[in-house]
Amino acid sequence: MVESNFTTKAAYLSHFNPQTYLEKYYTFGPNPSAENQILMHILRKLFKTFSSGRVKGDLLIDIGTGPTIYQLLSACESFKEIVVSDYTDQNLEELKRWLKKDLKAFDWSPVVKYVCELEGDGEKWAEKEESLRQKVKHILKCDVTQNQPLGPVSLPQADCLLTALCLDAACKDLPTYQQALKNLSSLLKPGGFLVFIDALKSSYYMIGDQRFFSLSLTQEAVKDAVVKAGYTIQEFEVISQSYSKTRANNEGLFYLVGQKLNNSVGLQS
Ligand code: SAH
Repeated sequence: MVESNFTTKAAYLSHFNPQTYLEKYYTFGPNPSAENQILMHILRKLFKTFSSGRVKGDLLIDIGTGPTIYQLLSACESFKEIVVSDYTDQNLEELKRWLKKDLKAFDWSPVVKYVCELEGDGEKWAEKEESLRQKVKHILKCDVTQNQPLGPVSLPQADCLLTALCLDAACKDLPTYQQALKNLSSLLKPGGFLVFIDALKSSYYMIGDQRFFSLSLTQEAVKDAVVKAGYTIQEFEVISQSYSKTRANNEGLFYLVGQKLNNSVGLQS
């Protein structure tokens, strides 16, 4: 693999355009696109995970939140506090716009309505938006390649760690990916849950005409990395739908729920 393809952190700061990303991947059109199908599938999975009552607690930390909130909509009913995080400052700014109800914020209401329908009451979407806004307590800079991904902040260990579509983008090779999962594990309580979503076998993704690196991994490599980081895998599902050919070259995505082993400290390198 040619490592120069990797999209550096500096390139994320200069080239990741949150508005274009949201428009290309998170806008519901009249005919559901591949991107819409994937989004709805992930939302249904998250609904099932968080409505089961098994994954709940005081604190959920979302890693590599990007400019998006869809991944928090079902989770927010099960946690008292949510922390969101990303490397890219303009994504944190975009999140703040939505949290502050800025007029220029992205309109998530079609997505929120979809989740409220899954939860049984499509009329409650405005209430859900409010409740999510209330629960997001910190918006933090994060770098998954660091031993302390959130820096020297004093946060309690989380009951749940959520990360969607971040590690494939952030890690240049498999050893870095394996280490990133271990780095993240330090943020999670023993016995806590990891909800992990990403593309399979994708070597790039597009935002408009900008190309971004993606680490191409098989499902076996993903599961192996999660187990090596000290988790048991409770659920692993392949979502067979791929992104539009013009957006990425993935072969489906995976949806994983893991639980951090009580003695996993000994497994960390
Ligand atoms: N979670 C969102 C965004 C995914 S896009 C979603 O589900 O759509 C990939 C994200 O990874 C971007 O927001 C980018 O800023 C972030 N990222 C890239 N390198 C990173 C790093 N080293 N640490 C943390 N986040 C990183």
